[in-house]
Amino acid sequence: MNLDDLPIRADLRGKSPYGAPQIDVPVRLNTNENPYPPSPELVADLAEEIRRSAGDLNRYPDMDAGDLRADLAAYLGHGLAAEQVWAANGSNEVIQQILQAFGGHGRTALGFEPSYSMHPIITTGTNTEWIKATREEDFSLDPGKAVAAIGEHRPDIVFLASPNNPTGTAQPLATVEAILDAAPGMVVVDEAYTEFARQGTPSALTLLPRHPRLIVTRTMSKAFAMAGTRLGYLAAHPAVVEALLLVRLPYHLSTLTQTAARVALRHRAELLGTVDALRQERDDTVRWLRDKGLTVADSDANFVLFGRFPDRRAVWEGLLARGVLIREVGPPQWLRVSIGTGEEMAAFRAALEGIL
Ligand code: PMP
Repeated sequence: MNLDDLPIRADLRGKSPYGAPQIDVPVRLNTNENPYPPSPELVADLAEEIRRSAGDLNRYPDMDAGDLRADLAAYLGHGLAAEQVWAANGSNEVIQQILQAFGGHGRTALGFEPSYSMHPIITTGTNTEWIKATREEDFSLDPGKAVAAIGEHRPDIVFLASPNNPTGTAQPLATVEAILDAAPGMVVVDEAYTEFARQGTPSALTLLPRHPRLIVTRTMSKAFAMAGTRLGYLAAHPAVVEALLLVRLPYHLSTLTQTAARVALRHRAELLGTVDALRQERDDTVRWLRDKGLTVADSDANFVLFGRFPDRRAVWEGLLARGVLIREVGPPQWLRVSIGTGEEMAAFRAALEGIL
């Protein structure tokens, strides 16, 4: 028997699963992780806390993750309280819960492509119709056109990744506000990469007091260097969190996950301590690629989209053959490289020079 013989949903037929190839090569620059592993001190503290909480593993975890949400609220600042914060297994699960609560059959979600491909995948997976709006040639948004697209389609949910994946483009708050004013439903600003934004790029968190239908999503997978923990979270009006409680699975966040995330928050000075170096490495990478005559999108994230290659697959394969794994993603002719350590980026540059 194969997949086609199963009585799966008609809209899943012929689809491929999402996922970057996990290939074991010396230099992995394909999934926008933070390349710096936790210190031995952090690992020891984590092991000790896990040891302590393991004594309770016969019991279900705190269903509402109260302590973790309080810690996340304190970390976010902006006067946020625990009841304005929600957490799940990665921001992907947060986004799925948002769609379960605010999307569904007969409803629509709109996003500005190219953008994070899981937004449409989770949208259609929850029986919500995806509406594709577009970006400018340089991947920025024209606020007038964004507002017009929202006015035309009246979507139940608008997705705006800022900084955007895979382009690295951050949106000025004025554009986010224009979208909030135009949108008839929920507006999700996906800030998975916000910690990497260049100086002076403000978070949409500042807009929450004036916009009760705004949801700002974040993750510990990127700057926080905890991708393996699977912890994403959001800040929104307390009523939005109440809506998500209606769809979340009971005990969705394991005791171990809640413990690990709280330890990570305690060690945030260490974990976020690499962000400045990664930003510097990113800016150096942009400059180097431009010096090579390539086209490079401005980036406020920990990755860089560059091109344009008539045969991007050949470039991707050439890099892989030299032990460097990047991502074949985004518009045709473009490739995305995640920012690694100085050594890893030197390996990337050497490999790419061998191809160009
Ligand atoms: N949003 C964006 C824009 C992303 O790029 C990613 C990860 N690639 C996510 C959300 C999801 O990350 P996670 O589920 O690890 O929090």
